[in-house]
Amino acid sequence: MSPKKIILRFGKDISDKPIIYNLVKNYDLVINIIKANVNPKKEGTLVLELTGEKYNEGIEYLKSQGVRVQPLAEEVFRSEDKCTNCGVCTDICPTGALYMKRPSMEVMFNSDNCIVCQICLQICPYKAMEVRF
Ligand code: SF4
Ligand code: SF4
Repeated sequence: MSPKKIILRFGKDISDKPIIYNLVKNYDLVINIIKANVNPKKEGTLVLELTGEKYNEGIEYLKSQGVRVQPLAEEVFRSEDKCTNCGVCTDICPTGALYMKRPSMEVMFNSDNCIVCQICLQICPYKAMEVRF
């Protein structure tokens, strides 16, 4: 089975649970952690590459634990035409990939720091953040 990339989002009630350990132990999955981020409120985002015959069972286990699972998009990018530099996204981007450059107050996007969590897609009022699968 070829590796599959997914993104997991979980709340603080799950951050202490051994979900990765259980994926390996109970579902025999090979896991490559591509990116991980836990904010001060203990809400987390994990980008994983999973390989194994019990992939579907592993995903069902994650969902049963309250983890939100979605396939990983290849890339997030910003439309320079649509972006108004309003700055809304810079407050919610968990990794600082979107940030305000001072003193020009121009919003910058550093794709190297982007974990493709897609939060900015939901919050941008001008639909300037887009995703490529
Ligand atoms: S929220 Fe959207 S329009 Fe505002 S700065 Fe971010 S990408 Fe640009
Ligand atoms: S998808 Fe958007 S909010 Fe998430 S890390 Fe990338 S730029 Fe930041």
